[in-house]
Amino acid sequence: MITVQNLEAFYGDFQALFGIDFSMREGESVAIIGANGAGKSTFLKSICGQIKVGPQAISFAGRPIGGVHPSDIVAMGIAMVPEGRRLFPSLSVEENLLVGRMSKRSGAWNLQRVYELFPALVEKRKNPALTLSGGQQQMVAIGRALMSNPKLLICDEISLGLAPVVVKDIYAALPKITGDGTAALIVEQDIDMAKRMTDRLYCFMHGKVALAGKSAELSKKQISDAYFGI
Ligand code: ATP
Repeated sequence: MITVQNLEAFYGDFQALFGIDFSMREGESVAIIGANGAGKSTFLKSICGQIKVGPQAISFAGRPIGGVHPSDIVAMGIAMVPEGRRLFPSLSVEENLLVGRMSKRSGAWNLQRVYELFPALVEKRKNPALTLSGGQQQMVAIGRALMSNPKLLICDEISLGLAPVVVKDIYAALPKITGDGTAALIVEQDIDMAKRMTDRLYCFMHGKVALAGKSAELSKKQISDAYFGI
């Protein structure tokens, strides 16, 4: 579904990514882990068109998408749940979810399916989005992204700042999302979660892939050595 080859990314003269190779298939869940400044967010921004990269460096569904405008990327079927969620404060939960329909992509996701995925949102649907707990706001952000019927759902720092019990609820939704072929790419700080809940993982370090493999087959030591650069 998505192939990244020899991706380099820059902020002015500063090079943040060096020759990243990466791929994902339909319905796969993949985690990216790595210390602060490793390049995880830059990688996601490169895919979503928020940073200019070489046109051929990223191909999605067989088309080169490097440097394509973010709104065109959403229309092609890539949706991002940004770090910090960025919900619209003046809108209700349901209105936030409906913003996801603006891409007008057809598919199985609608309000009813999002409420089935996250039942906690049903009774809060008319409430201002920012009055919800952090975990429920994350559910709204994921639901809003799903409403655009993505082929690839990208979640930056999915569990950052959330209580473990809420993180469990959010990860419980993952198989229901990937079950119909949507791929999920997740930036995760918690190595245990990344290992347990995803099919494959990549560990970034200093803008390069330090380790990649099937999550179940990599040992915790291999992962933490790559994470800390040992
Ligand atoms: P974190 O977990 O702290 O968000 P990260 O792995 O997502 O880290 P990035 O945010 O991608 O890392 O940063 C990669 C490198 O690019 C870092 O050295 C960072 O300082 C630098 N960087 C990130 N954003 C910018 C920017 N807007 N301008 C200049 N340099 C930046």
